[in-house]
Amino acid sequence: MRVIKQTSEMARTAGALRRAHQTIGLVPTMGALHDGHLSLIRAAAKQTRVVVVSLFVNPLQFGPGEDYDGYPRDLKQDLNLAKAAGTDIVFAPHVSQIYPADFSTSVQVDGLSDILEGQARPGHFRGVATVVMKLFQIVQPMVAYVGQKDYQQALIIQRMVKDLGIPTAIRLLPTVREPDGLAMSSRNRYLNPEERRQATVITRALREAADGIRAGEHNPKTVADALRHLMTREPLVRIDYVALVNARTLAPLPRLTGRVAILTAAWVGTTRLIDNILVDV
Ligand code: AMP
Repeated sequence: MRVIKQTSEMARTAGALRRAHQTIGLVPTMGALHDGHLSLIRAAAKQTRVVVVSLFVNPLQFGPGEDYDGYPRDLKQDLNLAKAAGTDIVFAPHVSQIYPADFSTSVQVDGLSDILEGQARPGHFRGVATVVMKLFQIVQPMVAYVGQKDYQQALIIQRMVKDLGIPTAIRLLPTVREPDGLAMSSRNRYLNPEERRQATVITRALREAADGIRAGEHNPKTVADALRHLMTREPLVRIDYVALVNARTLAPLPRLTGRVAILTAAWVGTTRLIDNILVDV
């Protein structure tokens, strides 16, 4: 496995691979790798010839007062995990490689970026779209692998790729969970044992909501109320939002039909977690 830190070297390498007709698969991450990331790397290793994993904590997608400085960073462990999962190249640039001092361009996907996570975290998805666009330019992947865990982010990347005619296919893979259901996240390591225990209510509530819908409850307000009620039974859990929306457009649904996305964000102590589940009605 090769580790590349310079943007110019990564771009040169990707160019040579493409000229040699080697398919490149990219797994963009912020590091602190866990099984969720590794499932994406393994899928890439099955489907593409050269797997590139980017490790980059993107300052542009963190708001003021968010956890950019404290975000977990562990390059040595990430390199070991990435290698074992089948990575060929790790691209781990310094911030100045991606954002030189005179950097002044951004990518904004209107609409989808302004609701839910975007409303809670202004500027977040502009940061995400900008860095993903830049990574796609540098790495030139034929396929990029993203997780359902960040469902809205995946839709925004798909939108961007379609709107701008980027020749990269986006593969969306299922959320990998801990045995008790909690969605794996680099931020889970912020939780103390009691918070970690209470955090499992998020998945339980989503699953109960999905079961309720499958059992015939098609009123979104009824389902959302039950979900909120269950989540607030844990005293350290504070709901940011609960939404039942069209899974393709994220538009609110007056009645639950078609493919429904149930999305939630909640604080558990001082840690903000997101999760979602899809239901076909
Ligand atoms: P992050 O490092 O949090 O920016 O995530 C990098 C990629 O891994 C994104 O496409 C995420 O959606 C994906 N990812 C994060 N957590 C999980 C998970 N538990 N299951 C599947 N994919 C995940």
